[in-house]
Amino acid sequence: MDNKIKKQNVYASEEEKTLIWDDIQNSFKKTFGSEIYNSWLQKITLIKEYNDYLILGVPTRFFRDWIVSRYLDKILEQVKSFKLSLTRIEFKIVEENKQNQEIIKIDELNKVTEIKDSILNYNRLNPKLNFENFIRGKSNDIAFSYSKKVCEHVSRYNPLYVCGGVGLGKTHLLNAIGLELQNDNNVMFISAERFMYHFIKSIKKNDMVNFKDFFRKSSVFIIDDIQFISGKESLQEEFFHTFNSLMDKGSQIIISSDRAPMKLDRIQDRIKSRLSGGLVVDIESPDLELKKNIIKRKIEDIQNQFKENINISDEVIDYVAAESKTNIRELIGVLNRVIAFSRVHNKILTTSDCKNILKDVFSQIKVITVDKIQNIVSNYFNISLSEMLSQRRSRPLARPRQIAMYLSKKMTTRSLPEIGRRFANRDHTTVIHAVKTISRLAEQDDEMKKNINQIKSLLIDQ
Ligand code: ADP
Ligand code: MG
Repeated sequence: MDNKIKKQNVYASEEEKTLIWDDIQNSFKKTFGSEIYNSWLQKITLIKEYNDYLILGVPTRFFRDWIVSRYLDKILEQVKSFKLSLTRIEFKIVEENKQNQEIIKIDELNKVTEIKDSILNYNRLNPKLNFENFIRGKSNDIAFSYSKKVCEHVSRYNPLYVCGGVGLGKTHLLNAIGLELQNDNNVMFISAERFMYHFIKSIKKNDMVNFKDFFRKSSVFIIDDIQFISGKESLQEEFFHTFNSLMDKGSQIIISSDRAPMKLDRIQDRIKSRLSGGLVVDIESPDLELKKNIIKRKIEDIQNQFKENINISDEVIDYVAAESKTNIRELIGVLNRVIAFSRVHNKILTTSDCKNILKDVFSQIKVITVDKIQNIVSNYFNISLSEMLSQRRSRPLARPRQIAMYLSKKMTTRSLPEIGRRFANRDHTTVIHAVKTISRLAEQDDEMKKNINQIKSLLIDQ
């Protein structure tokens, strides 16, 4: 038994303590200036340090959203200058007066057993993404109802497959199901990307037996963003076996994806048909009413949390709802900006204030596609699109090609393999190389920096 516990912990990221938080705070002050530092960054605390990521404490959810939307990239960059192995930062909300207790709680948790620690690394259910604060509307009603039904009658709809575009609430619903079922079931909640990460790690460590055991013992298996397994044959194989063995023993499976099973790209037919074998429900783009209801609810939440009145008029709510097009994640981001502005200036905003605040935001939100990037970049460098996509390696063609790949990674939600495919079927490692090269040049070379900024503004303006 002991042995097993130890082995499972192999998947968890090792805890490490090398950072001196005061030094990092000082560097924040220098980089961001004292105004931003005093109002925001000073309040961030270091909760836990692993070799590849940090858990930082922030006082409120609003605070976290604000920091993530405005400063995260720079924060990560700064912290990385102290510790190169870091790849990401996670935030934990710790109410100011409870901060000490919370930290103690976490430390205790870690002492309990190693297995707990590894579960923490797999099963990050977010207590805030529950059914209670999921707002229903025409576009998500069916998905919502069946998610609830799955919780009432486990394994009646099996698998439940939830599909819909980015930022429409898939992860929120899956997480809500996990929360609802976790007391009476062994719930496993994992993104397909993390599933792959653990899969590869286990292969490298020659530890597949534990990997299989670990996933197959769940009675509710929730896997987010399954489209990610596209193209990865051995991963699909493993997923297929996990899927079958869970179905055989009557476990409930819940899956999300950005598209319907039969529309999945480069996924084996037998898997697609397995995925469609239960119930497929769709989340569509929100209508105006749903967007307004989400905004109202968010404002209420913030008012309750801070015990303060938020001055946002109905007119402004209508404006924000109408202007933000399809994505609920962005809608919430936009709303946070409006609220922050109204608080800082302590005034009731008019629609025209709002227009000004959001000018930048809405233009950034405009949909930027790989096609558009390819067109604009090739025009900018005066080469033809087919030259840019060709296999020729001369620098006047290779650089623009790399810039276009870099921007596709930075400005769209496409994955590396997808981007590779759109560049005449190149491998994802070529895309990684391009992203690295251009990131480096954009830092060192003024000409490159200027080119990139100009292309970005062309993309945003058009
Ligand atoms: P997806 O997984 O489909 O990309 P998410 O579940 O991450 O989208 O949702 C994006 C954000 O929008 C999250 O903060 C989520 O809580 C919020 N959200 C989405 N749909 C709703 C809803 N119907 N009610 C309340 N919040 C929602
Ligand atoms: Mg998601």
